[in-house]
Amino acid sequence: MSEQNPFESLQEQVDDAAAHLDVGDDVVERLKHPERVLEVNLSVEMDDGSIRRFKAFRSQFNGDRGPYKGGIRYHPNVSRDEVKALSGWMAYKCAIVGVPYGGGKGGIIVDPDEHSEPELERLTRSFATELRPLVGPDRDIPAPDVNTGQREMNWIKDTYETLENTTAPGVITGKALSAGGSEGRVEATGRSTMLTARDAFEHLDRDIADATVAVQGYGNAGSVAARLIEELGATVVAVSDSSGAIYDPDGLDAVAVKAYKNDTGSVTGYDGVEEMSNDDLLTLDVDLLVPAALENAIDADLAEDVSADVIVEAANGPLTPGADDVLTDRDVLVVPDILANAGGVTVSYFEWVQNRQRFAWSEARVNDELESVITSAFADLVDAYETHDLPSFRVAAYVVAIQRIVDAYVDSGTWP
Ligand code: NAD
Repeated sequence: MSEQNPFESLQEQVDDAAAHLDVGDDVVERLKHPERVLEVNLSVEMDDGSIRRFKAFRSQFNGDRGPYKGGIRYHPNVSRDEVKALSGWMAYKCAIVGVPYGGGKGGIIVDPDEHSEPELERLTRSFATELRPLVGPDRDIPAPDVNTGQREMNWIKDTYETLENTTAPGVITGKALSAGGSEGRVEATGRSTMLTARDAFEHLDRDIADATVAVQGYGNAGSVAARLIEELGATVVAVSDSSGAIYDPDGLDAVAVKAYKNDTGSVTGYDGVEEMSNDDLLTLDVDLLVPAALENAIDADLAEDVSADVIVEAANGPLTPGADDVLTDRDVLVVPDILANAGGVTVSYFEWVQNRQRFAWSEARVNDELESVITSAFADLVDAYETHDLPSFRVAAYVVAIQRIVDAYVDSGTWP
């Protein structure tokens, strides 16, 4: 895994796309930095009565198109630059799918596996208390990310509502259904990964049903993507998690592997398969590769050995800019993260809309609306790619997204 700074990757991606746009350097510079970053040290009581300090961040990248929006991740490697990069990707992601939000992201430097549920609840409520002045249904709306889910979102919502003495389910998305969550939210990221994979194969005049697939990372995004792509008729031959990778050339059963991982905590040890390293999985001879773990999974060296024809980025930032250049030169079609995994934020937007309307949609409606948002965003991307003769789908996605943010900024005039 490369040590590439994700924030520098984001800035390079913006520069690459801005070179194809008629936008001044001053405006581009604005689009390469967050508007503000909160850094806090949380003091949290452990079960043994001791107090432990945890560093946490919230980056608000750009609010030109609406309230800041983005997940909160719990991971030992969280850093200020990682959170800043992720908040920028959120701004561009919201713009490409046309949901009226800016970008935000948060994280706590913590390994959740080392803590009990009561410790994690105190940690989460402590962060939510610090976030209180920054967040709100019209200000900044957090959501789940790596190692956080409905449980943490419910705690954050409850903390905010208690402190504000109100009910405001739209302060956070990714909640449990019982707490104002949306049907279809848990599956949304994997669903947009599947939809963009399907559209990418169609773009290449190929049938995804004939494809072999490898998925790196078998959490929320990866396991749902694997199941839904399998439902299109494709053969998922390899999946992995932080414990390693498993491979069966005849095809794995995506649902059974997920059930096994739920039981045992990892995909490795699954019966009747070959075990391999994550790097071996990433270079397997498959038609479709879905990186769905963390950023910088593929660097320029590894990219030389990638054998897939299509990469659909379920994870945020899984390719370094160097890897991107190599893969573009090698004509590998990469569907960029800001579109491929935008299902999560799109259904988060639907959840927020439902919360504000106090009216719940059916799962079928959520999935239909999601499909229409993602397929039309994919068509906008292809249109920009072909009209401006752009080098890659990633540049095309940023060209569309940057133009939309710039339009919102310029059309609003300048506040002195
Ligand atoms: P998750 O915690 O549910 O799953 C992450 C998976 O990656 C786990 O299976 C973990 O074991 C695996 N993993 C970690 N390090 C690994 C490594 N070095 N090699 C292989 N596997 C490794 O997280 P998630 O929600 O599925 O998020 C995964 C990615 O998708 C992240 O980049 C996240 O930002 C992105 N994403 C998630 C959502 C969402 O709604 N969940 C939305 C948009 C983007």
